Amino acid sequence: MVDRCFSFIRDNGTPEMIDTHAHLTWPTFDGRVAEVVDRARDAGVLAIVDLGTDVASSRRAREHAHRFDRVWFGAAIHPNDAGNANPGDEQEIAALCADEKCVAVGETGLDFYRDHADPDVQERWFREMLALATRIEKPVVIHDRKASRRLIEVLDDARYDGLTGPGGVFHCFAGDADTARAVLERGFHISFTGNITFRNSDRAEVAKLVPLDRLMLETDSPFLAPVPKRGKTNEPANIPYIAAAVASAHGIDLDTAIRETTRTAVRFFDLPPSIVEELA
Ligand SMILES: [Zn+2]
Ligand SMILES: [Zn+2]
Repeated sequence: MVDRCFSFIRDNGTPEMIDTHAHLTWPTFDGRVAEVVDRARDAGVLAIVDLGTDVASSRRAREHAHRFDRVWFGAAIHPNDAGNANPGDEQEIAALCADEKCVAVGETGLDFYRDHADPDVQERWFREMLALATRIEKPVVIHDRKASRRLIEVLDDARYDGLTGPGGVFHCFAGDADTARAVLERGFHISFTGNITFRNSDRAEVAKLVPLDRLMLETDSPFLAPVPKRGKTNEPANIPYIAAAVASAHGIDLDTAIRETTRTAVRFFDLPPSIVEELA
């Protein structure tokens, strides 16, 4: 399956997939971002969305987006960084989000698993990020770790959805079928990482419930490397493994899975539709 996947990309010749969630700003990639972006292109990746997690990493993500044609970025305060954020950071993030290559307020959300920051502080920042996304009409990239129920309550309370507003994506989706339905009903998108390739994982079952016009591919590099790269540093070049797993979950050919998820990502992030020809 996987070998066929890579040979498909080579035979077909053009990069077509979008890694909608990576952290090229992570120290693991220091001094290696150019080669990582090149390797991604060689593996069939058309575009990468580089997500910041605080002011400093959001600034570096913007630098990457200006240095590499095929990189776009998001800026926000991540729940695990919420404890170290300062009151003035909201203005800094807003300024970064106004950049022409910024395509999302992200990543933000709630993390009740790692518990790096007080839940109330996390929620305060999440609400700030939702207000910013509404103001600038760019979608949010939502981190959800054991926090689905509260996230949905906060989104409902803030009247934030993908039906009337800019919406968002629940990234690295770990929720059950009912949560997926609740998220989809509200107009949100869902993306899967290497978690969809893990043996004994029920992600493929859940992915089946997500229509392709709401489903996107991501690596969450450098984390969550897919099978057969588990244990290694993940990078955007591994996105074909995620595409293959989505194709298999939906019982469709790889070509269709790639085409549909790329179309969804172009629309969701409002990327120039011409990128498919220009960057290929
Ligand atoms: Zn995350
Ligand atoms: Zn992430």
